[in-house]
Amino acid sequence: MQYPFEIQPLPYEYNALEPYLCEEILHFHHGKHYATYVEKLNDILKNYPNLQNMSLDELLINTDELPNEAKTSIKNNAGGVYNHELYFACMNHTDCELPTDKLALAINSAFGSIDQFRAEFTAAATNQFGSGYAWLILSNGKLEIIATPNQDTPISLTVTPLLCIDVWEHAYYLQYQNRRADYIENWFNLINWNFVGARYMSLMKEAN
Ligand code: MN
Repeated sequence: MQYPFEIQPLPYEYNALEPYLCEEILHFHHGKHYATYVEKLNDILKNYPNLQNMSLDELLINTDELPNEAKTSIKNNAGGVYNHELYFACMNHTDCELPTDKLALAINSAFGSIDQFRAEFTAAATNQFGSGYAWLILSNGKLEIIATPNQDTPISLTVTPLLCIDVWEHAYYLQYQNRRADYIENWFNLINWNFVGARYMSLMKEAN
C-alpha cells in the first residue's frame, strides 16, 4: 500500500459491535476520524512525489527521509491511518473468546496470567493522559504493554504492535461520555483474539 492511500472498509458492519460500541460511534470513528487521516495524508504527499512510493510503514519508520517542514504532519496523519486500521482490525463481536495456543502461553509467561495482562493493559489505557492508545507489542520476541500519546505509533519505535485500544475521547464519548474506564472494560469483550493470535504467529515465524 502506498500513495494514494485508500480508506479501508470496516471489517464488519457498523452495528456489529453493539452493545459495547454503538453504531453511531463507529460511523463517526471510521467514516470521519479515520477517513480524514487518510485524506490528509494523501493531501500532504501530493506535494512530495519522491515520497509517493513509500509504504505506510516506511513513512513511519524512515522518518529521516521526510522533509523537515512536513515531518510532523506526515507522522501524525500516517500514524492516524496505521493506528486506526489496527484498532478496527483488532475488534469483532463473534470471535471474542480468550487468547489461545502460543499467544496464550506467551501472555501467561510475560504477565503471569490473562487476568494480570488485563489488569496491566487496563491500567495503561486508563492512565494514558489525554489522547492516545494502549498497546500490546512484541519487542525482541517478548510481549510488553505500552501507551503512546496522540497518533504516535509503536512501529516508529521499531517494535511491532499486536493489539491496541484507542482512548481518544472520539472513540467512546458518544456512548460513554467521560467514563473511559467503562469503555475499556467493555472493549475487552470485543478483542478479536483470532486476529491477534494469527498476527503473533506470523511475526514469530518472520523472526525465526
Ligand atoms: Mn480514533
